[in-house]
Order: sequence, then structure tokens, then C-alpha cells
Amino acid sequence: MHCPFCRHPDSRVIDSRTSDDGLSIRRRRQCPECGGRFTTTETASLNVIKRSGVMEPFSRDKVISGVRKACQGRPVTEGDLAVLAQKVEEAVRQTGVSQLDANEIGLAILGPLRDLDEVAYLRFASVYQAFDSLEDFESAISDLRADHVKAPQAE
Ligand SMILES: [Zn+2]
Repeated sequence: MHCPFCRHPDSRVIDSRTSDDGLSIRRRRQCPECGGRFTTTETASLNVIKRSGVMEPFSRDKVISGVRKACQGRPVTEGDLAVLAQKVEEAVRQTGVSQLDANEIGLAILGPLRDLDEVAYLRFASVYQAFDSLEDFESAISDLRADHVKAPQAE
């Protein structure tokens, strides 16, 4: 990494810390040539291959805009959406892949969205999994019901 001040081709790391979400590392660096200090952020690259075949960097904003419509009229806040997008990113990064297709992002969204709001989840799943009959809705709903029985809400 070149020094941004004098372009010296080397720098010394004087401090490293992991971001709160654990997804990136910030390094404080010092140039041995001019003494200038600067910070770099390291994040493992993660790319999404869109249906069109175009590859673009994973973006939490895209996740949020993808689920926002399903959450319309539901008691879901911007903060909830930000947490959801973070969970999706963590889940995807945990798989250790550096690229994945848009479909897999959709799959990774289903779990956290289901925990967040079941109506939004059904809406999203119906589009994403292309529900084309009442039976598809019925089986998704009976899955949700079965989970309620297994994991009753704490009083
Ligand atoms: Zn320098």
C-alpha cells in the first residue's frame, strides 16, 4: 500500500482493530519515509453475480432495498432493516465464498426476514420462490405454524 502523502511503496502497521461487526479490519499505518499516518480498511471481497451475469460487490443497501417493499405497512424500522442486512452479510461471509449469485442472497434473506416479520417473509418468499398457487402459501404458512409449536414465544 503506497503512502498517500509521498507515494512511498511501503508502510508500517501501528495499530489493528476489528470493526464492531467483525467484518472488517481497520489498520492504522505509518509511512517510514515521511512519517505520515493513515488508516486502511480491509474487507474480504464478496461479489454478487446478477441474473444478467454482471458481477458487482455485495451491498447491504441492495439487500435492504430488496426487502423494503415486502415490509411495506409492517412494523419494521430502518434499524431493523439495517440489522437484517448485517445478518445476511454475516451469514453469506460465514460460508467462506467470495462470490455468489443473486439467488443465494435471496435464500440468505429468508431466515432473518422470517425472524423479523412473518408477513413480510411470506410476501418476499412468494416473489422470490415464485409461489404460483394457494398451496405454496399454505405450505409456507404451515411451516411457520409448525415452528411456533416447536418454539413457543417466551411470555
Ligand atoms: Zn510517506
